[in-house]
Parts: sequence; C-alpha cells; structure tokens
Amino acid sequence: MVQLSYGLREWGLDDFGVWIYEMEKRYCATQGKINWSWGSASGLNGNVVLQDWNDCVRLLERQALGDGPDEWMWLTSDTLAPFRACDIRGELDQMPFIPETKVLKWSSWIPKKINYFLWRVVLNRIPTKEALAIRNVPMPSLVCVMCNKELESADHLLITCEFAQQLWVGVSQWMKITLPRYLLSVVDLLNYINNLQMEGNKQKAVYMISATVCWSLWKARNDKIFNNKACQLSKMMGEVKALSFLWLSSRAAKLKLEWMNWREFRFIW
Ligand SMILES: [Zn+2]
Repeated sequence: MVQLSYGLREWGLDDFGVWIYEMEKRYCATQGKINWSWGSASGLNGNVVLQDWNDCVRLLERQALGDGPDEWMWLTSDTLAPFRACDIRGELDQMPFIPETKVLKWSSWIPKKINYFLWRVVLNRIPTKEALAIRNVPMPSLVCVMCNKELESADHLLITCEFAQQLWVGVSQWMKITLPRYLLSVVDLLNYINNLQMEGNKQKAVYMISATVCWSLWKARNDKIFNNKACQLSKMMGEVKALSFLWLSSRAAKLKLEWMNWREFRFIW
C-alpha cells in the first residue's frame, strides 16, 4: 500500500531502468477535489485497459492526499506501519506456495538495493524487453543487446546469454567452483549455490558474488541501451571483483578482508 501525497513529483530513470513518471501531470486539484488523468502519450487502448484504469482511479479517489513526503506503508495483520523489508520477507517465508523465494537469502553482505533486485529477478519482475512486451509496452526490438541473437528475458540476460556465460565461467574459475551447464535460470543458480558443500562464510561469499554478477550484467545492459556503452568481459570481471570487495569490506569489517587475498579468492577467516 502506498500513501500518495502532493509531494510525489520526482521523475527520471530509476536503478531498474524504469521511468518514474512526473505525477504532477497525472492529477489536477481544484477546490479540494482531485481529478486524475492518464497523462501519457501512449493512450489507453482496449476495454480491459480502460477497465483497469477506471478501477485504479476509483481506488485513488478513496485515498486522502496530504502535503507530506511520500511513504511506503505496510499492513501487517491489523497494524499499518512504515514499510520494512524484513516484514515482507517474514511473510514470504510463511508462504509455501512461492517456492522461488525459498532460494533467496537476505544477505547482509550486499546492499539492500541488490537484495531487492535479486528478489525481483527471481520473481521475473525486472523490466526486460520480454517483460515489457508482455505488458504491452511498444518495443522496437525484443533482442538481447549483449548477444544480438536471443529474446531478452531475465534468465537469458543473466544466465544463458553467451556474454553472461563467459562472465560466469570467469567468475566461477575465480571462486574455484564449477557451475554446471544445465543451469538455465537464476533460481537454478541460487538453488545450486545453496546446496554447495562448503564452509559457511565461503558459501555466503559465493552467493554475494553471484548477486554482484547479476547486478553488473543488468547495469551493463542498461549502459548499453541507454548510454550506448560497449561491454568488455575483462573489464566486467574486474568490476565484479572490485564491487564485491567494496561491499564485503564495508559490510563485514570484522573479517579484515585484504584485496590481495580477495583477488585470488583466498580465505583466511
Ligand atoms: Zn543475449
């Protein structure tokens, strides 16, 4: 549940490559009454879409808008409180019918943003070309920009794309593990990592590095699409090592991690 207010004015490209629209253009407040408008050039086409929009407006009309900053709220049993990731994680863990989330771990070694990102990946909720096309967003091409061959889905981009495969080979060699070729999805990958027989911290590090690889691939894809930046495998390998070192050394200072050891994936903890 989101509490809307007049303060919702930010717009731009968020970390997931989605435009946050300028909300000011979507409503008009006159004499205490708010009129909502679609406010997008793409228009509303089809009865189902129009019905959804009318339902949405009805929901919005029931909400009281204030002048304060926007805030995410979460309803837990009968308490409405500011949203916390741990609450939703707790609720998800109670739901046996969402098996995908069982492979996810809320890792304290990676930033919250990356935990969220991985969660969205596992639920197939990142705005890949395939996901946008399914939601009727007009796309000039659905082909993956990393290989220029296959349909861009989350699992393709992050696991089966030939560019991603090369990166995973390099990273797994660095981590001194072998990733089987039958892994076809991020869920497969996380499941495999969770079942690796290795010492706790090392397994946690493998999980954290895998999250770093997924995030780096997504950033590289966005850089290529939106900034026309080319991707180089060797550069990305270096970035994965450096970014994971940065995250780990700042989030687990007691490990006293040293770059010389991390570079060789040597563990002395
Ligand atoms: Zn590809």
